[in-house]
Amino acid sequence: MESQTRIKRRLNELGLRSRLRARPRAQGRMLAPAGMFRRLPTTAGLYFPFYHDVPPDYADDLRRHLRTFQRRGPLVSWDEALDVLAGRRELAGPMFCLSFDDCHATWRDVAAPILHELGVPATFFLTTGLVGQAGNLTWQDCRDLLAQGYQFGSHTVTHQRLADQDDAAALREIRDSKHAIEDELGVPVLDFAAPYGSGVDFGDRELRAVQEAGYRSFATTLRSPMRPGDSPMYIQRQGLHPAWPIWAVRTRVHD
Ligand SMILES: [Zn+2]
Repeated sequence: MESQTRIKRRLNELGLRSRLRARPRAQGRMLAPAGMFRRLPTTAGLYFPFYHDVPPDYADDLRRHLRTFQRRGPLVSWDEALDVLAGRRELAGPMFCLSFDDCHATWRDVAAPILHELGVPATFFLTTGLVGQAGNLTWQDCRDLLAQGYQFGSHTVTHQRLADQDDAAALREIRDSKHAIEDELGVPVLDFAAPYGSGVDFGDRELRAVQEAGYRSFATTLRSPMRPGDSPMYIQRQGLHPAWPIWAVRTRVHD
């Protein structure tokens, strides 16, 4: 009986969440009041904010988010962030490491020019099956972004929830995406981000498979700040939308 109500409530929440995702400004306004009880990071911690699509309407908003982070501490590359986790680089205050998921053409048109303008490094986690599809990047776009100094990681081939796949399919998602990017870009692909990325979307099987496939890091969407000594095979990222006001950002990125 319990489950009837619970399932219904979860479906309602899911419906509300997906309606809000389609209207990111409304979603941001709804989240904002909770930001009153949070503050942007002021103490030592490594944060991994990430975005998906950056439509041109939200270019100024993304710039505002990134400038806000820059006022708090340096934005570093994925390599540098892994150095912090390994204790090879000092973590003196808040530090941020930016990434983007899926394969949006707006990374080329909107995000990259802003990153260049502000001098911000970023890693793009690519869903290889989307490359060349309408609204997404081509391999040539990816090569251009690589030449501009951005890093690439894998975000599987088809963006299925890995936990739903059988062993062979999960392995293919993890390995084939890595090999496709390596073949097309001619660089090693060492970093992986799980689709959806919460605790129910992957498990030990995926963590093992990612390590065995030769990746050095595994990114989730769990949100806590990280510190030296934390495992690179469990990177915790904070999902944001550029349309959100800073108060909504504070509900995700805070100390
Ligand atoms: Zn994704």
